[in-house]
Amino acid sequence: MNLILFGPPGAGKGTQADYLAKDYGFAKLSTGDMLRAAVTSGSALGKQAQSIMAAGQLVPDEIMINLIRDRIQQPDCQKGFILDGFPRTEAQAKALDDMLKSEKKALNHVIELKVDDQQLVERIVGRYSCAKCGAGYHDTFKKPHAAGVCDECGSATFSRREDDKAETVTKRLEAYHRQTAPLLPYYMKVGVLTTIDGLADIDEVTRQIEKVLGTKEKIAAQH
Ligand code: AMP
Repeated sequence: MNLILFGPPGAGKGTQADYLAKDYGFAKLSTGDMLRAAVTSGSALGKQAQSIMAAGQLVPDEIMINLIRDRIQQPDCQKGFILDGFPRTEAQAKALDDMLKSEKKALNHVIELKVDDQQLVERIVGRYSCAKCGAGYHDTFKKPHAAGVCDECGSATFSRREDDKAETVTKRLEAYHRQTAPLLPYYMKVGVLTTIDGLADIDEVTRQIEKVLGTKEKIAAQH
């Protein structure tokens, strides 16, 4: 089963993709994570993407399409994959359709996490993650159980994303509304779109998504 988690920055796509990847055994394909890894490694792609990301703009379609085309051919995507942050433009959505067709793969679901912009700014500006294992936290909504210590790995070092500053968040939201949200009517027409209230608590959002995907057993039976 292949799906897209759709929604503005800060809607909770990454968090939900992590849960689903663990629960269903699907590969999580986060283009934002791929680009941040490229920036950290100092690769040519990273150098090209860094200033664009810091400005809250979108990296050119051709780069993103090639990244995803290579990625969905990997063995870990055979059982299914979750796209987090792709497609973000009409050209990317078209290219995704073409590559799925040529790989004889289906797009089973597009799940939109709907959250209003004001709430998003609060969500994004307060988020941070463990610098060692990447576990996600939030100043208000998801503090570690013991202050300053990662629940998952015990590390005491945390980091915040460069592009999570309020002024960049506004630009990222503009890019979402201008270039990405217009894809929703297309997926609605294809009949794969489900919209979920992204403001519900994290577990409730996961439950709603699982309701759409079906039980793990059902999916296992399909393979
Ligand atoms: P994200 O972690 O998904 O919020 O992505 C962080 C940043 O990476 C975005 O603000 C863009 O600059 C860039 N990015 C991630 N995915 C894409 C994509 N599919 N197309 C263009 N730029 C992207």
